[in-house]
Amino acid sequence: MTLKILFDGGADRWPDYRDPLTAALAAAGIDAEIRLDWPPAEVDYIIYAPRDTPTDFSPFTRAKAVLNLWAGVEKITGNPTLTQPLTRMVDTGLTEGMVEYVTGHVLRHHLGMDAHIVNPDHTWHWAPPPLARNRPVTVLGLGELGSACARALAALNFPVTGWSRSQKDIEGVTCLSGDDGLARALSTAEILVLLLPDTPATTNLMDADRLAALPEGAVIVNPGRGPLIDDDALIAALDRGHVGHATLDVFRVEPLPADHPFWAHPKVTITPHVASETRADTASEVVAENIRRSEAGEPLLFRVDRDAGY
Ligand code: NDP
Repeated sequence: MTLKILFDGGADRWPDYRDPLTAALAAAGIDAEIRLDWPPAEVDYIIYAPRDTPTDFSPFTRAKAVLNLWAGVEKITGNPTLTQPLTRMVDTGLTEGMVEYVTGHVLRHHLGMDAHIVNPDHTWHWAPPPLARNRPVTVLGLGELGSACARALAALNFPVTGWSRSQKDIEGVTCLSGDDGLARALSTAEILVLLLPDTPATTNLMDADRLAALPEGAVIVNPGRGPLIDDDALIAALDRGHVGHATLDVFRVEPLPADHPFWAHPKVTITPHVASETRADTASEVVAENIRRSEAGEPLLFRVDRDAGY
């Protein structure tokens, strides 16, 4: 029987996904028809991208899974109408993109590139940076993205400390967990990378006290989620110089409102949620594999633990 698959990932993205999804489903041996519109009660699978307005999943009585195209699921985990299994995106393209963003921004700050790129007075600014081996970096969150970034930074010779909910063992990375582990991870973080999900347990994790626990002049790179940092506490820490710079890709409200103080702050770099993007070609293979697994009665990959929120 032909499976009815709803592409609810946005009509604007459909042209990118149509061919790779069709090809990936065929390669996985799945007989399916993908449309942007089906009568809800007939839909077998929902390929989904969350929006600010929650979706009412209750009419999708037959749907066997909701396959989220994004890695972050904070806009959907609390949706009470969602009774189907939920998966999130783990995609090689997404991981590669995040490694490039994080290593690029860490190296920018490590090498002090700004002083040479913006030098209107043509100053001979002779200040060689230390070697990476002398610049401790901490990554909060050692999941698919955080662990890949931690490995890449370690391969560049940075001493890397990582922190996660459960204890990890990653070659070349000092892995910590728990409250004591967080305190240790922050105390050495000359550059701090945030790759945690947005959950009730991580909201405002970087509050005034934890910002104060960073070394003087520490730099923050946040491609995780906006609510991980208390905005007002960050601005206060930047203003008094305790935090040297913040490169922020994600915000509580996106697009970042025009009057938000981050825009005008001289020690804040804003990138517009571009750290990494799900790539249609590689993500389509993940979606197709999960539909194949579901039809074969095998466990889904990357299933979200809705109680934990990620
Ligand atoms: P994962 O679920 O694979 O990893 C999450 C990590 O965070 C895990 O190591 C997990 O610990 C840890 N964690 C979760 N809660 C806590 C907690 N309370 N205390 C300590 N550690 C915790 O997610 P990904 O790596 O795939 O993605 C991370 C986030 O990156 C996404 O949730 C999303 O918000 C963001 N993102 C941003 C993008 C952008 O373009 N800016 C693009 C894609 C993702 P454990 O391993 O023990 O479970």
